[in-house]
Amino acid sequence: MTQNNEKKTKKEKKEKKNKLSLRRKVSNLAFALRQIWEASPSYFIVYYLCTFIWAPLDFLTGSYLLRMIVNSVERDSPPETIITYMLVIGAVQIAANILNNMFWNVISPGQYHRIGTIVRKKLFNKAAEVELACYETPAFYDKYVKAMDEAHERVHKVMQTIDNLIWRIISLACNSMLLFVIDPWLIVFGLFPLLLGFVRRWYNKLNHSIAVDKKPIDRRIKYVRRTFYLGEYSKEMRMGNMYLRMLDELEATYRDFKAMMHKHGIKRAVAKYIQSIGLEVVCVMGAMFYAVWRTTAQGTMTIGDCIVILNSIGTISYCLNNMVQTFADFGEHSLFIEDVRSFLDHEVKIKSPENAPPAERGDISFENVSFRYEGAEQDVLKDVSFTLRQGEHIALVGQNGSGKTTLVKLLLRLYDPTGGRVCLNGEDIKNIDLASYRDSFSCVFQDFKIFSMSVEQNVLLRRSREGDTALAENALRESGAYEKISTLEKGIATTLTREFDEEGANLSIGEQQKVSLARVFAEDTPFAVLDEPSSALDPIAEHKMFENMRRAAVGRSVIFISHRLSSAVDADRIYLMDGGRITESGTHAELMAANGKYAEMFRLQAENYVGREAAV
Ligand code: ADP
Repeated sequence: MTQNNEKKTKKEKKEKKNKLSLRRKVSNLAFALRQIWEASPSYFIVYYLCTFIWAPLDFLTGSYLLRMIVNSVERDSPPETIITYMLVIGAVQIAANILNNMFWNVISPGQYHRIGTIVRKKLFNKAAEVELACYETPAFYDKYVKAMDEAHERVHKVMQTIDNLIWRIISLACNSMLLFVIDPWLIVFGLFPLLLGFVRRWYNKLNHSIAVDKKPIDRRIKYVRRTFYLGEYSKEMRMGNMYLRMLDELEATYRDFKAMMHKHGIKRAVAKYIQSIGLEVVCVMGAMFYAVWRTTAQGTMTIGDCIVILNSIGTISYCLNNMVQTFADFGEHSLFIEDVRSFLDHEVKIKSPENAPPAERGDISFENVSFRYEGAEQDVLKDVSFTLRQGEHIALVGQNGSGKTTLVKLLLRLYDPTGGRVCLNGEDIKNIDLASYRDSFSCVFQDFKIFSMSVEQNVLLRRSREGDTALAENALRESGAYEKISTLEKGIATTLTREFDEEGANLSIGEQQKVSLARVFAEDTPFAVLDEPSSALDPIAEHKMFENMRRAAVGRSVIFISHRLSSAVDADRIYLMDGGRITESGTHAELMAANGKYAEMFRLQAENYVGREAAV
């Protein structure tokens, strides 16, 4: 019972959160329109100008001139009059068709793409700024994904929905005026659909419930789909019949979908049925009987008017119905735009003050640094202090989960410490220009990524400049990747992965790691971070790479993380991390002499390599 109440309150809170004030809704729609206006004012003007021209013309040819023609026939008017009316209708229709075709098939697709690109660029620029912690906050991440997926389409949908509304208002006004002129009582039939508002609200509510219940089902289907098409799952999917398990999951989503539709589907059908009956029987048929009665029984209405009434009453009820739906659509668009706006408005916490000085070479020190991930119950780093002197090479070692990678994330200012500070030459790095600070690092991460771009771009990770090819080639030589790259037909210009280029190259994991390592050799940055840089390399490649690295690292400060303690032996200083603290530090010889945990770990690993006797 209490649990049920809790669930209910949570749901209510969520619904409340999803409700936007009218002012905010309007502001969201205005925001969407502003995006289009900023991207292409001329497209914006032509788009709505067309509506203001075509909507009255549509009424003129579809209802007004039609009435004139039938009435002229009935009154035996001269054929020239009738032909003139018909020619006007034909000419307007032909012109409208040509211009509409041009607009929708030639101009609109290009503009649609252009606006999409501009909106996406805004989102990508923001995405490049947001701090890593945002990726770990589900509510924010959901918004982020939704904004990325939907933003540009929603912006267009707002434009179309407003266009639709303008069209309906014009059509409604023209047709109502015509009916009013013919017989004011007819308006009653036209207004009838408004009385069905409560049924429509019920129908929309059911639609909303279906959409909400469908979301988790869709997410599961998407997950199953990903496991089938993403390369990273391909091996496991083929082992142990995992794909059969995934197909079971797909079947389960179908069962859930069926159950969900069973729950809401019949009610939705009833709501729709009442709406249709109300519209078609009461409104259209009622007006039809009234018009036919006046034309035939009373003889007080012309056949032309009778035909126009049937035509206009249908249009009016359609417009009213459609307009109510349009307002519901605005509400939905507004919720999506709200997500986009709150993503764009997100205040980035990791930034530097204006006119902050650029980063320079020097010493980096951690001063009593503590850190806790958002939502976590414990600090991952606890009172960590050490200094990386200019040109010094230090190794961070320790068991999994001891906090090494987190320390590197703080060093790169991907996160800010929750306690203490990280300084460059005594200045808190928060006060140093962030872009130049990050630019002063070359990094290889253990979960390195290769981009579907040329080898050269994968090495340089930035826009090209003159002389880059030689720079990238040298870096590849140093990292040991050039041997393989030089065998490729297009060499360094080869696209990596075949996702977008059939002539692209798929490299082995070891070769990919060598390419990512070349990133460190390519630029002479004052600092280098190597997080498990040789995990995918064979022993010979690893040995060569370390030799080259030693040469390349002269004069640079290097932080190096490795599970293989043998590769830490040459470091100027080794820091052993345990439970988020630095528990031992010194050179290899000092730590071995101290005979602490480092010495124990080193001996254990050595045993695995050379056998117990040799290690002791
Ligand atoms: P190491 O690199 O030494 O293996 P990490 O720095 O990756 O250790 O992780 C240290 C601890 O922080 C681990 O207990 C891990 O579970 C936790 N941790 C790492 N990343 C996150 C995160 N994004 N959110 C919450 N906890 C995390």
